[in-house]
Amino acid sequence: MLENSEVQNDAMHIGVFQQNTWPKVEFLESVIIDNAIMYQKDTGTEQLAPINALSMFVEAGLSRKQYEVIRSFNKKFYPCYSIIQNEKKKCYPKQESYQVTASCAEVNLQHLLDHTVTRLLKYLEEVIRTLNQDDRKKLILISKWGCDGSQQVQFKQKYDNEDVTNEEISYIENQIATLKVTEGIQENYSFSVEHKMTLTMVDGKVCNAATSTKSTMKCYICGATSKDFNNLQLNKEINPLLLAPNQL
Ligand SMILES: [Zn+2]
Repeated sequence: MLENSEVQNDAMHIGVFQQNTWPKVEFLESVIIDNAIMYQKDTGTEQLAPINALSMFVEAGLSRKQYEVIRSFNKKFYPCYSIIQNEKKKCYPKQESYQVTASCAEVNLQHLLDHTVTRLLKYLEEVIRTLNQDDRKKLILISKWGCDGSQQVQFKQKYDNEDVTNEEISYIENQIATLKVTEGIQENYSFSVEHKMTLTMVDGKVCNAATSTKSTMKCYICGATSKDFNNLQLNKEINPLLLAPNQL
């Protein structure tokens, strides 16, 4: 009984090894190697993998029509368009994560990050495999985020840009504060990924608002104004917190 389950386990391994061309086949029993060869024959058709076809589709900025014209020259090699569509759906978080109204489109941050982790780990599987179980439980995903002060969380007519920007920042930061560690099992290993999000995708306007700098002519880091700019002798105090607005 135990032996049987071990064999099944190995068979699972070999499926993965074949896909990623892991050079570990030699350790396995001949029965399993036979299985593996069958597996290879199964997937060894000369067709572009759906994920690669999607990658080409997106990188080349193809339209459906363009893809279908390309495909018509080699229908065996290029997967059907609907397969690409399905592959693309896997890139998005689950349907319940979205909320779309007339004024707002929103994705649940936790779901978005959970999904991102799953996709990344799948992509980085060979690397993750080389880590030990302890390290896999201590992963950290550092994500950057930002805003442009033009989205409004609730549909409100507000003309004070600083308020809108700071409201946006605190709205996201509240969500970041409640983020939970992403835990899961992929293939044969379990993992935990902690989230760190840094507010770096910002422009000068957002920085000014976040640091309560009223004038666009004033440096938001050291507070220098245009009359100080040519004075190279002047050394302004820099508040390090201003270099990391999300720490404010
Ligand atoms: Zn400065």
